[in-house]
Amino acid sequence: MSDEDEEDAPDIPACTPLAAFLSFKQDAEKRRASQVQLETTGKLAESPLVAVMSHLLSFLEQYSHFQQLQQQADQYRVQLKRHRVQHRRQMKALRASYRQRLRDKNSIISSLEEAISQQQCPSPLSEGESSSDEGAQAGVHRLVQSLHGLQGERSRLRGELRLLHSQLEQKERDRHSRIQTFQQQIDELKSCIEEREEELSRLRTATGATDSEKRVLCLSAENESLKQSLSVTQGLLQQLSTIPSQSSTMLIKENENLRGRVQQLELSLQQRAEQLSQMERRSEQSEWRRGEELRKREDRVRDLQLELDRERGKEPVIKYVTQTVEVESPATVKQLTKARQRNELLSERLSGQNERCKQLEEQIRKSDEYSCNLQHKIAAYEQEISKLKEELLKEIGHLEERKEEAVKAAANCSAEHFQNLQDQFFSLQKRLTSLPPTLRSMKTDYASLRSQVRNFSEFYGAAISEAKKQISAAISEMSEANKDLLEKYRKEVALRRKYHEQLVELKGNIRVLCRVKPVLKEDQHGEDHSVVVTTDPNNESSLSVLSKGKARIFEMDKIFHPQSTQEEVFQEIEPLVTSCIDGYHVCIFAYGQTGSGKTYTMEGTVENPGINQRALKHLFSEIEERKDMWSYSVTVSSVEIYNEVLRDLLSKDGEKLDIKINPDGTGQLHVPGLRVIEVKSFQHIKKILATARRNRITFGTQMNQHSSRSHALLCITVQGTDLATGSKTTGKLNLVDLAGSERVWKSGAEGERLKEAQNINRSLLALGDVIQALRARQTHIPFRNSRLTYLLQDSLGKGSKTVMVVQVSALESNVGETLCSLKFAQRVCKVELGPAARKIESGGGQCD
Ligand code: ADP
Ligand code: MG
Repeated sequence: MSDEDEEDAPDIPACTPLAAFLSFKQDAEKRRASQVQLETTGKLAESPLVAVMSHLLSFLEQYSHFQQLQQQADQYRVQLKRHRVQHRRQMKALRASYRQRLRDKNSIISSLEEAISQQQCPSPLSEGESSSDEGAQAGVHRLVQSLHGLQGERSRLRGELRLLHSQLEQKERDRHSRIQTFQQQIDELKSCIEEREEELSRLRTATGATDSEKRVLCLSAENESLKQSLSVTQGLLQQLSTIPSQSSTMLIKENENLRGRVQQLELSLQQRAEQLSQMERRSEQSEWRRGEELRKREDRVRDLQLELDRERGKEPVIKYVTQTVEVESPATVKQLTKARQRNELLSERLSGQNERCKQLEEQIRKSDEYSCNLQHKIAAYEQEISKLKEELLKEIGHLEERKEEAVKAAANCSAEHFQNLQDQFFSLQKRLTSLPPTLRSMKTDYASLRSQVRNFSEFYGAAISEAKKQISAAISEMSEANKDLLEKYRKEVALRRKYHEQLVELKGNIRVLCRVKPVLKEDQHGEDHSVVVTTDPNNESSLSVLSKGKARIFEMDKIFHPQSTQEEVFQEIEPLVTSCIDGYHVCIFAYGQTGSGKTYTMEGTVENPGINQRALKHLFSEIEERKDMWSYSVTVSSVEIYNEVLRDLLSKDGEKLDIKINPDGTGQLHVPGLRVIEVKSFQHIKKILATARRNRITFGTQMNQHSSRSHALLCITVQGTDLATGSKTTGKLNLVDLAGSERVWKSGAEGERLKEAQNINRSLLALGDVIQALRARQTHIPFRNSRLTYLLQDSLGKGSKTVMVVQVSALESNVGETLCSLKFAQRVCKVELGPAARKIESGGGQCD
């Protein structure tokens, strides 16, 4: 709503829910208008795409809100319909009851009319006194009956009045409940509007749309809310106008009916009073007539008495005549008999007359009694009638009073209600008259907005379809590029493998490294702790040993000086570990006298782990890197070879194991009963390594210096599956911590110790022979000469890679063993490279 409209809007006092709702709306609109003003002043420049997207979002939100509101409106409509149906039902019931009442009244009126007509119908006088008496009695009876009927009618009317009162109360309650529900709905709508306002304000502040767009949004929202409020108002108006008008018209009708009924009753009462007076008159007449008759009869009785007396007075004359007749002549006798006869007749007549007189007297007495009774009865009836009359009058008065009260109350109530409604109606009318221009302007606004929105949605549709096309094109391009990349990557991987191969090839499939142990504090207890081994910082592959005043130079593939770290050593090994994942068999040996650092290089310490742990760590990280293209399974086994006896370091019993040809026909070796554990993570391998170490110590307690007299092997098998092609590879990594190479048996050892030393010597010699044969590419490789070489046959053969880390002590006290170890290394080293390629001293070999 615009500002002008706000000013034009009528000021409705907030006493009705509708008025409260309207005032709330006005406030909300004011707030919105002020917000719009604020936003237009503080407009932000934003990219058009963001603005368009925010518009679209807000439009969608508005649309969803609009749908919610429509649903609410539908609910209200349904409620209204239900109310109307209820109302109609009530009206029907009321009409039926009114009809019933009318029928009852008509029947009463007809019965009364009948009674009156029966009373009015004159009883013929010729029927005699008894019939007239009966008629009077019947009339009185009917009157009493009609009075009873009236009393019944009165009680019924009372019941009706009570019913009307209860209906009125019910309606009042309904009205209250409806008002409450309306209030609730209005409250809900308020909260709804508030939420929307907040959202809108948020959206506006967030999007920073242009003035016209904000105006458009505002107007559309206002349009919706106004529509809603209009519908709500109309509904309210309809409800309010229909319900009380019906009730007031009903009341008025009822009043009229009651008035008519009272008038009718008064009329009938008057008629009955007239009838009563007529009947009194008639009874008076009949009484008078009876009195007349009585008088006549008395007169006649008197006449007859007189005649009788006269006749009696005549008698002596006749007697005298008779006497004279008797005496004088027969004629007189005749006359006498005649006179006697006549006399007898007359006496008979007299007696008859007397009897009749008596009868008449009796009759008169009876009729007197009867009339007396009748008079009593009449008096009693009159009394009763007068009493009833009084009661009736009182009752009528009461009824009249009550009726007037009810009418007054109803009139007051309806008048108040009507006044309220009229007020509301007038205010609404005012509001409605002010609404059309607003509505018109809104309609035009709405139409323009709709067209804008349509254009907008078309524009969006086009933009979205264009964007979709572009995206799908980009996706297809990307997938093409990905395919290319994947292909390239595969090629790259193959190339890398090839180069790696070449690199390893260049370095030699069998490499000999030397690590010089640093001089530790615990090594300095003897007198002879001068250093005789020196490394050349400029030459990584040569070292010199001062022996008997003469410096001897040894050259190997790589020399690690005493300060070299575990990491540096592993760096040299790492390519081999990687190639193990690619499906190569790799062997890494640590060779040297006891205490020269073999175990340190292979296992290391907890803080500074050696090749074993680092290799496995590298293995798992490499597997993780390749997981999209390859799936790998890693299994681990660990054995110890002591005195040519094989024992499982991962099972506690430490049973002797045997090496056999695999029955699967591949010709490969296997160790039946050897525990092979599948490893899922690096943490798991740590535990396995700890178990192996523990078991080696446990087995070692049986014998002194055990650990330095046995070879410890850790065998890791890596099986890979190419996820794309399904091809499989199997790589093996053997990490071997060899037994001490010192020549114990030379110092006069005997018995078990001698046997042990011989075994060690034999196995190390055999290893040296095998490596030498391999480097010399001999056709026969003497694998079977020791358990160690036999077991590692698969991993030492053609196509495998081997690294020998020769550990030496730099101290003068160990110079003999150092020279021996270096000579062994030299023997292995020199074979392939040959004297022409490198300047290496000849005459190396096992120190024996
Ligand atoms: P071996 O296994 O050849 O008998 P060890 O590995 O047990 O020898 O080494 C003997 C001792 O020398 C151990 O205490 C070990 O920690 C230490 N040691 C060996 N090499 C090094 C080194 N490069 N740096 C530090 N300490 C070492
Ligand atoms: Mg050791």
